[in-house]
Amino acid sequence: MSGPNRQILLKSLPEGQLSTSNFQLVDGERPTPDDGEVLLRNLYITLDASNRAWMQGATYRAALTAGEVMYGRALAEVVESRAEGIEAGEIVYAESGWREWASMPGRLVQKRPNTHPLSHQLSVYGISGLTAYFGMIHVGKQQPGDWVVISAAGGAVGTIAGQIAQIGGARVIGIAGGPEKCAWLTREMGYHRALDYKAGNLRDQLREACPEGINLYFDNVGGEILETCLPQMANNGRIVCCGSVSTYDGAPPPAGPRGVPGLLVTKRLIMSGFIVTDFNAGRDRALAELRGWVESGRIKVPEDIIDGLENLPAALVGLLAGENFGKRMVKVA
Ligand code: NDP
Repeated sequence: MSGPNRQILLKSLPEGQLSTSNFQLVDGERPTPDDGEVLLRNLYITLDASNRAWMQGATYRAALTAGEVMYGRALAEVVESRAEGIEAGEIVYAESGWREWASMPGRLVQKRPNTHPLSHQLSVYGISGLTAYFGMIHVGKQQPGDWVVISAAGGAVGTIAGQIAQIGGARVIGIAGGPEKCAWLTREMGYHRALDYKAGNLRDQLREACPEGINLYFDNVGGEILETCLPQMANNGRIVCCGSVSTYDGAPPPAGPRGVPGLLVTKRLIMSGFIVTDFNAGRDRALAELRGWVESGRIKVPEDIIDGLENLPAALVGLLAGENFGKRMVKVA
């Protein structure tokens, strides 16, 4: 099946902040699948803060390199299959890149149910929802009555993590950028309070909002916000290290946060990092529980869907700048 195939290259690695000029839209050929491969038409491409982190160097996956089609994960439709056990018309999740069409070995794609809306497979039933679920319940061991603080609270992981904590009986405080996002968190996402880190005085805001101290801090941003939260932790508090988006885009992060060893000892804190795939064995159970909460209306799923493959670079730059309310993705077809 021949035809055009628009794709976006990571033209150069950013030296400072990521910009749309690091990308280039090019025309390519639609590939033909070999034996064992499937031809995929990308439907939705997910945008994640970690897309930028992978440009800095190897983490739990290899670093991205310039000159190649931008790495990306997508929900795609199988248009032609030469792989056993996969049929044309099925929906799959694949690392199929920032392009319209891709040919990939069938063993590298994962089948997904054709839920309505399909986009939920990238948000609440995708990496973001599962990260929120395992981070809050298994790593953070959230308890009823806890004072829970979540940073990047209005993002893909943060919005779901906040609602899971509310279901678990916690009092939940979000940290986010700007008065509009903070108002939305309390009005639409059920947050008890939302603190605007861009307004300054986060330390005072936290003290006032959470006078008994933080029992569980779900850290998506690292850096200065983590450093500000540490002294506000209650004794025996838990810190879930989910990510450090404040260090992904721009100059290498300064050393820190300061004060960690002393505070961990005197406040008897536990700081735990995790990667969502550590919990693959519990995935089906987590998805069933998330589905129950979504279907009963206890979890709202905010999605920020942008149309058009050509808008992927600006959408990623905008995500890092905090434009997104909830899970950002681009609809390609
Ligand atoms: P989000 O949808 O949360 O978007 C990122 C948000 O981060 C922005 O909207 C912005 O919101 C905020 N942000 C950007 N820069 C800063 C800054 N300097 N200081 C504070 N906040 C900032 O992204 P994701 O849901 O994709 O990711 C959230 C975190 O979860 C990331 O750290 C990511 O790496 C991590 N993650 C971890 C996984 C794991 O397995 N451990 C799996 C998936 C994600 P604002 O308007 O508030 O500034």
